[in-house]
Amino acid sequence: MLPESVAKLGKLFSRLPGVGEKTAARYVLHLLTSDPEISRTLGEELLQLHARVRPCVRCGNLAERDANSASADAVCDICRDNKRDGHMLCVVGRVHDLFAIERTGTMRGRYFVLGKLLSPLEGIGPDDLPMMRLISRIREEGVTEVILATPPSVDGEATALFLKRELGPLGIAVSRIASGVPHGGDLEYTDPITMSRALAGRQKL
Ligand SMILES: [Zn+2]
Repeated sequence: MLPESVAKLGKLFSRLPGVGEKTAARYVLHLLTSDPEISRTLGEELLQLHARVRPCVRCGNLAERDANSASADAVCDICRDNKRDGHMLCVVGRVHDLFAIERTGTMRGRYFVLGKLLSPLEGIGPDDLPMMRLISRIREEGVTEVILATPPSVDGEATALFLKRELGPLGIAVSRIASGVPHGGDLEYTDPITMSRALAGRQKL
């Protein structure tokens, strides 16, 4: 029933989280009935997205690449921010979780994104975690407190326990965000008040 290009774009939109077939069709129709400039700009931005935005080389957060630099390396705004407390490092599983904590506005330190959590079911073991990078960052930057903010799921708890064990010999304070974030819950969907309480109520491991 739909022209081929409309159906094709609709299918692509429906692959985004939270977008069903109906919403996807509405997006396409909206674009077709709006100023063509919107579609053009959207297309251009999407085309450049992966080249312009890279994981921060220091923490794994999203970072804008310097357009004037030949290097593909990028450092994020949080790592560049001199007002942050460099002694405090918050370890998260994914960039989404970093955003959830940033939204509380109460995190004074910087972050380290693991990229994955220990998961025997998915075959992700200790060797898959970027431990060398984490430990050298703690040493090089003189970090004195690490806050483990992995999610309160089975994998998140296993990862926190493993990190505690690995970081123990470094002689730094290691704490875990307090419960209050529901078990099995996703930090991404935790409201900022609950999240900032969980941070404030972190417990020494
Ligand atoms: Zn960074």
